Amino acid sequence: MAEVELAADCAQCFGLCCVVPAFAASADFAIDKPAATPCPNLATDFRCGIHTRLRERGFAGCTAYDCFGAGQRLSQVTFGGVDWRSSPATAATMYAAFPVVRELHEFRYHLAEARRHLRAGGDREVEVSLADEVDRLDGEVEALASGDGAALAAVDLAAVGPRIGDVLGRVSRALRSVDTGPDLGRRDLAGSDLRSTDLRAASLRGALLLGADLRGCDLSRTDLLGADLRGARLEGADLSRSLFLTQPQVGAARGDCATRLAAGLNRPAHWA
Ligand code: SF4
Repeated sequence: MAEVELAADCAQCFGLCCVVPAFAASADFAIDKPAATPCPNLATDFRCGIHTRLRERGFAGCTAYDCFGAGQRLSQVTFGGVDWRSSPATAATMYAAFPVVRELHEFRYHLAEARRHLRAGGDREVEVSLADEVDRLDGEVEALASGDGAALAAVDLAAVGPRIGDVLGRVSRALRSVDTGPDLGRRDLAGSDLRSTDLRAASLRGALLLGADLRGCDLSRTDLLGADLRGARLEGADLSRSLFLTQPQVGAARGDCATRLAAGLNRPAHWA
């Protein structure tokens, strides 16, 4: 299977994340912006005109965003380097394809992590079998993401998503099976003080952790798939061996120089 980048390369993108989604004025975005409309800060060269001042200008949400490589793939591969300004006739197709490819690429990002853990886990039969299943599913997802605009419009994410969630759930349980921690999946833990809770090998998948206090926590083998970490306190926390953590989650949280992250995740510039 061809290698596909699963992280944003803004220099190769036509600013799709600055055009396609709608913004609602909030702590993350200083303005309301309708969908399929360029942000007023987007320059003619598809660069952000306030890139170095995003947070002070009220666009913290932009600093946490990552398209998982969907933007450059659509810009340079699917649409062959033809941008939405010079080809307005294809703009609507490109806009519709962006959230589809972003979601497919996020699936692939998680499947790649699952594969890494499983292949590193030795030769336990369950892990070998799961790794083979992950490979097959990843191939299917990549085939969907490589379609043209019409094919992407026909992708049924509602059918694909649960299959990804199912296999990642089984991978998570296999990786946490040695001494499984508490199951706090989908729990509303917003604002909770979790500093004295043993969260190692816990499931926090889909949990609402908005503003939760996780300072100093050891989150080794903690499943964070889809957890809402906006404003969560991660100063001094160890996430170097957490499962299914993404750059947008990290960017939305609060951390410091003592927060430990796995290789491949970048420390946000706004962390102390
Ligand atoms: S503020 Fe900059 S990064 Fe954010 S949407 Fe507008 S142009 Fe894009």
